[in-house]
Amino acid sequence: MAKKTYASPDKDAGWGLIYRLNNLWGQVDPKATKGDYDGWNFVLDRIYCNLLYANDMVIKRIYTCGRGHKFSTFNKKKECPTCRKDTGNKSAIQLIKIESIDLSDEDEMIYNFLTKQIRDANNSKIKATRKPKGDSDKGIKSLEECKEKHYRALMMKDIWVRKFMQELGLYLKVSHGDPSSAMLG
Ligand SMILES: [Zn+2]
Repeated sequence: MAKKTYASPDKDAGWGLIYRLNNLWGQVDPKATKGDYDGWNFVLDRIYCNLLYANDMVIKRIYTCGRGHKFSTFNKKKECPTCRKDTGNKSAIQLIKIESIDLSDEDEMIYNFLTKQIRDANNSKIKATRKPKGDSDKGIKSLEECKEKHYRALMMKDIWVRKFMQELGLYLKVSHGDPSSAMLG
């Protein structure tokens, strides 16, 4: 890679992230206005992940299994990879320690809550779509009502992710011509 003279490596990493975030935010509005709710949710998740990465808010967990294997991972696991490899069977594991966590519990709780709301709204939307025509209620909400709930849940997450970004000292300029300069770090 060619040596860049206009910025230090640290700054480069910062600009890379800012550019990435900006690109992702650029995808939010078209998806939201087109009604591509899954796409919208996905992009918000990508932004959130990038923000966690920016702040080193990565959770490292240490697990142990019944056979005494111990391993650490950045992802949540449900089984021991060594046992799976050795025996092909799933063996129960236990989380014994969080080695590092930099994200506040509240942030994670809010994020998980918002994500669950979206999932629930989407599920009831699917149920409403499958409801046979002419079938009376049976506790299933109307498709319109579900769509609105889904939209509202996504909007809440959208707003929260923007606020979260602001708290990290990253924010979007209101108007801009050049996408690479649209965000300030
Ligand atoms: Zn094991």
